Amino acid sequence: MTNRKLIAGNWKMNGSLAANEVLVKALLQGADSAPACDVVLCVPAPYLGQVQALVADSHLALGSQDVSAQTHGAYTGEKSATMLKDFGVRYAIVGHSERRQYHGETDETVAAKAAAALGAGITPIVCVGETLAERDAGQTEEVVKRQLAAVIHVNGHCISEIVVAYEPVWAIGTGKTASPGQAQAVHALLRTQLHHASSEHAPGIRILYGGSMNAANAAELLAQPDIDGGLIGGASLKAPDFLQIIAAAR
Ligand code: PEP
Repeated sequence: MTNRKLIAGNWKMNGSLAANEVLVKALLQGADSAPACDVVLCVPAPYLGQVQALVADSHLALGSQDVSAQTHGAYTGEKSATMLKDFGVRYAIVGHSERRQYHGETDETVAAKAAAALGAGITPIVCVGETLAERDAGQTEEVVKRQLAAVIHVNGHCISEIVVAYEPVWAIGTGKTASPGQAQAVHALLRTQLHHASSEHAPGIRILYGGSMNAANAAELLAQPDIDGGLIGGASLKAPDFLQIIAAAR
């Protein structure tokens, strides 16, 4: 089964009103108005309203980089899934390694965030991935399986609604990309794990690769049988590069 690919840009904490406008307009002008893949821009929360207006009625969807596990209340600084929904957010990254590393997010928190997103009709992009030390210690399989298992445990009943992103931590923002073979091997084992959760839905669940994907290496990565798209950081801030990645996703 070939899934329609998903290309997700993660702007991280970058941008400004002026720069965002230039970038989104370039993406709208440069891309086919009906690309062969789905495209989402995961923008910093303060710019959701701006980018919502810029992408209105276009092929570009709006995404968040995080979501609260809580619905409302005394959680200063948090943003709930229903608030994101108010801005037309369709996807939310959960469990990005930077959130796990700098904000202490555990597998259980990530699972709860995925549940909160799903509860509001937002598709969580669930990130899993091993550090370099874990890879070197031969723990890649154990780590990614443990991270995904927590999400399946809480969200098994609606597992068909999630997107998974395999992001080896050692490849994020480092310029070191996993080889297509390395990435495919992990994607295949994640697919098998999803199959155990739901043999009916596993083939259709999109598993993205993330970690220094760029215009030069995207096509080869996206050609792997279990790579259904990309989660792109740095290259999503450069319109020509991001457009080339979108064009490679078919
Ligand atoms: C990311 O932030 O999810 C990511 C993959 O970053 P980069 O593409 O810059 O490695």
